Parts: sequence; structure tokens; C-alpha cells
Amino acid sequence: MTDATAIAHALDLRRAGKSWRGACPACGGSDRSAKFIVTEKDGKLLWFCHSGCSQSAIRQELADRGLMARPDPRRPQPKYSRDQIEIAELIVLVGEAALRRQEWPNEQDHAALVRAAGIVRESPRNTTQGRLASKALATSHMRVYLGDNL
Ligand SMILES: [Zn+2]
Repeated sequence: MTDATAIAHALDLRRAGKSWRGACPACGGSDRSAKFIVTEKDGKLLWFCHSGCSQSAIRQELADRGLMARPDPRRPQPKYSRDQIEIAELIVLVGEAALRRQEWPNEQDHAALVRAAGIVRESPRNTTQGRLASKALATSHMRVYLGDNL
């Protein structure tokens, strides 16, 4: 019992097109406003709570109710989503290009660049953009700029 239909039945959700809507299992968001949505895309279960419940809070609640398997604690969970990594790679690439032109980022950009560099370093990807971002981190001006932050 891990598919959207089973969860929809267990949570008493209403069918709405390709998805199901109703009360959120985590926050109990009212059934009338249909704040909680469950759907399946490409065989993957997706859910969203308009009240702002986190993905992990809902996953935990579904697991507590026996509606889905608990994440295997032995298997490390990816720390960052693919979107987060892609954005971090772009920030690193843009930052590296700016540094190469000797345009020094302001404080806010600096913080974003340090954060992005950390994500890229921890989550290297074997994609064109991922390889370029890792390469950008290894350039001398980037290493000098980030210093201890790298
Ligand atoms: Zn919720």
C-alpha cells in the first residue's frame, strides 16, 4: 500500500482530476479547503500541503499510519534536492565568471556563493553543468576568494 489511491482511501481524500484532495494528515488542514493534495507522476508519489507542512513531516505521518515505508535509516538520504543542486551550480558558475572579471560580490552574493559552493562540493553531479561547477570551484581565483569557506 504505497500508491496514491491507497493513501487517498485511507485518508478519505476526494478525487480531483488526476489527484486527490482533502485534509492534511500532518496538520489536519480543513477538508473543506482541500489543502492537501496527493498525486502520482511517472510512478512517483507526490504530495503537497497548502498550509505549508514540510515534505518530511507528511512522509513521517504517512509512515506512522502505515501508509508508506519508513525511510531506511541505513540508506543516506540525499541532503539536497536536484533543484537545489542545479541552482547552486548556476550560482557557482555565475560567481566564478564574475570573479574572473574581478567583480567582487556584495555581502549578500558572497553568502549565496559560499552556500552554493558548499552544496556543489557535497553533491558533485556527473552532468555537464555539474562538472563545470566543480571545475569552477577548483579555479585559483575561486579558491582564493572562498578561502576557508571551501
Ligand atoms: Zn499540512
